[in-house]
Amino acid sequence: MDWLTNLNWQAGFSDGRFFWIEWHFWKVIGWTGNVVFFSRIIVQWIATEKRKRVVVPSAFWWLSLAGTWLLLSYALYRRDPVFIAAYAVAWIPYIRNLIIHRRHKQAHLACPTCEVSCPPQSNFCFACGAPLAPRDPAR
Ligand SMILES: [Zn+2]
Repeated sequence: MDWLTNLNWQAGFSDGRFFWIEWHFWKVIGWTGNVVFFSRIIVQWIATEKRKRVVVPSAFWWLSLAGTWLLLSYALYRRDPVFIAAYAVAWIPYIRNLIIHRRHKQAHLACPTCEVSCPPQSNFCFACGAPLAPRDPAR
């Protein structure tokens, strides 16, 4: 605990510093990127705990995308090739996962009886058992 008592608390909150950070526009962008990128883990964890199975909600991919672009902006500002390389292409699978997620959601079938959304290629409604209209294979 020496590090805690030896910290210069006064210097951490003076001369434009807050928590030992000298804040300016790009620092806000970078730290916002960090917070957004980290928050995706919390969102995914909560979704998993709620359903008691591993779930990756679309919010996870949106937060990944936003966090990556904010961190990439900061990395470009810093002109740090290691940092830039880490985030330069990471957003591509996030967008692809969002597209796949959206297509899967659109492929769900609405039950004509109870209006529950049923998984794609279902023949019967899982909620009420009503037969579902076969989907046009051309779509
Ligand atoms: Zn139904």
